[in-house]
Amino acid sequence: MSIPVYEIYALKYGGPYNRPAAIVRWLQDMDQTTTVNYYIFAIVGGDGPIIVDCGCSPKLAEERKLGNYVNPGEVLKRINIDIGSVKHVVVSHIHFDHVSGIELFPSAKFYVQEKEYNFWIKNPIAQRRPFLLPTDPAANAFLKKLEGTERLSLIRGKKKILPGIELMIAPGHTLGLQVTAVNTAKGTAIVGSDVAHTFFSYETDIPSSYIMDMVSWVKSYDKVRAKASSPDLLFPGHDIKLMENFPRVAEDITRLA
Ligand SMILES: [Zn+2]
Repeated sequence: MSIPVYEIYALKYGGPYNRPAAIVRWLQDMDQTTTVNYYIFAIVGGDGPIIVDCGCSPKLAEERKLGNYVNPGEVLKRINIDIGSVKHVVVSHIHFDHVSGIELFPSAKFYVQEKEYNFWIKNPIAQRRPFLLPTDPAANAFLKKLEGTERLSLIRGKKKILPGIELMIAPGHTLGLQVTAVNTAKGTAIVGSDVAHTFFSYETDIPSSYIMDMVSWVKSYDKVRAKASSPDLLFPGHDIKLMENFPRVAEDITRLA
């Protein structure tokens, strides 16, 4: 059986947001600002679509006053994906902007690294204030309810979840962040989520300021670079260039590969 060739789409559901540049370029350019977007990603082909990340729930988006927020279900509709029938959702890591919308996917199986799950859902340290800042308690409670059911797949390190779709742990930003390696027409591409918030990190080795383990983070760059067929197939989690430098297929949606 031949391995399916997939297409990858970036879908903006929030932003643009102005941020201090030092947040996405670790302790660099303290006096400058930068702009980021919030995204989910759709991998289309084979038995897909496979969606990477859930976006934010409407309730939390309102609480956190996310400007230009669009319900991820509405964004997916623009490329004819019905959120109600999505079967596969990769949760890159358990921060609100990536997991809060989990309940918007009623038919999906969620793939989460076991290490990530154990920290955010089971470790009491995750209830301390620095870790609560990027947390959506409702999403975490929902994940906890799914444990032991067939809707939650806890991954240990590396796993092919479908032909041409492989998950790999790439810690640093969080303890169990995972990237998705995808077979595309151009070779293996990495939907990296926040292993790099912007292309700058892949280009320079300098991560964002949101660090849980810096040593692991640098090793994760080596790991994903070795996995991608070329450097231009490494896609970050929040860069506005994902909208600007790729062909637009619908409002706030581009095709990356
Ligand atoms: Zn993020």
